[in-house]
Amino acid sequence: MMENKEELARIITAENGKPLKEAQGEIVYSASFLEWFAEEARRIYGDVIPASAKDRRVLVLKQPVGVAAVITPWNFPSAMITRKVGAALAAGCTVVVKPAEDTPLSALALGELANQAGIPAGVYNVVPCSRQQTAAVGEVLCTDPLVSKISFTGSTATGKILLKHAAGTVKRVSMELGGHAPFIVFDNANVDRAVAGALASKYRNSGQTCVCTNRFLVQKGIHDEFVEKFAKAIEKELHVGNGFDAKTTQGPLINEKAVEKVEKHIKDAVSQGASIVTGGKRHSLGKNFFEPTLLSNVTTKMLCTQEETFGPLAPVIKFETEAEAVAIANAANVGLAGYFYSQDPAQIWRVAEQLEVGMVGVNEGIISSVECPFGGVKESGLGREGSKYGIDEYLEIKYVCLGGL
Ligand code: ADP
Repeated sequence: MMENKEELARIITAENGKPLKEAQGEIVYSASFLEWFAEEARRIYGDVIPASAKDRRVLVLKQPVGVAAVITPWNFPSAMITRKVGAALAAGCTVVVKPAEDTPLSALALGELANQAGIPAGVYNVVPCSRQQTAAVGEVLCTDPLVSKISFTGSTATGKILLKHAAGTVKRVSMELGGHAPFIVFDNANVDRAVAGALASKYRNSGQTCVCTNRFLVQKGIHDEFVEKFAKAIEKELHVGNGFDAKTTQGPLINEKAVEKVEKHIKDAVSQGASIVTGGKRHSLGKNFFEPTLLSNVTTKMLCTQEETFGPLAPVIKFETEAEAVAIANAANVGLAGYFYSQDPAQIWRVAEQLEVGMVGVNEGIISSVECPFGGVKESGLGREGSKYGIDEYLEIKYVCLGGL
């Protein structure tokens, strides 16, 4: 029996290693989607449209799409499920959840809570499976004619496979895929705010979220001060350790493969002239622990500025003009979140409108919240989650023409 939120948070820390405080935050975030969409269910309004023909009346009904298959990642083992399932159930759909193979326990705990809450059997279903079975199970979920909707959060590569599967039966799809978030610091920024935002945006969940900053672009005039203060903040405020220790801010990475990717990005950058300002290697705790790392003298030729690291690595590129920064930011084939720090109102409008991303943080490094539409452009995905828009992903519009009046 799930007694309280604390128990759910401990499950998250146990299964993915994130610090307990972050897991507690995730549970609040996770629950917020159930509350939000329970309220939104009461506002699934239809429409009456003035008809062009005198003897007709035109109605618009909103109906549930049907069975939704929900495939979720390991980095938010609870919230990524409720963000989808909350909307789906509120719209009137049933769901089949396939959680990530590294983190099935939160999905099962939610099943127990669904039973306790009186959700009828067969409405919230969970199919955990091994890594070996994932592709086969995914294919069934995305091709079975009984499934009408796929909602996926994960890598762009996997998203493309699922989109291909879904094409065969033209299923509705929502895709929250990879990001490559730029974090631009302009000369006129408040440097202390920028450092605080950088720390939160980069190192939350040890850098393992799709909206974590993946590359810092810092203007020439503020560059040295920013790098120096950022390094100090990393060394003072971040503590690597066991997620259950109260002072830990950085747990282990999810697995060996994740650590190898961070190492590979650092090695490649250093071989091309980047400097390690702090961190740079596996942590003495061993296994999957990695030191929070800051690199300077980074260029756009380096791997870490071309693909998502998904780990505790902050590469800093120095730039001269606003146009140059926007061009670097927009050179990516993905566009999920983007952040920038500026105190010039005209620049704030210009850059916010120009960044090719679905979500922009202006003088803020953490911007996800239940009432805000989460989603990306380009290869970062399709559709929006949370907010007043999220429920539309699970609704069909039906037009009814009443004739012969
Ligand atoms: P990551 O590399 O961050 O683990 P993935 O996209 O591989 O991201 O994983 C996200 C989710 O997608 C997980 O639930 C995983 O099991 C699932 N997944 C991975 N490959 C496939 C596949 N071929 N078909 C269906 N689901 C998949």
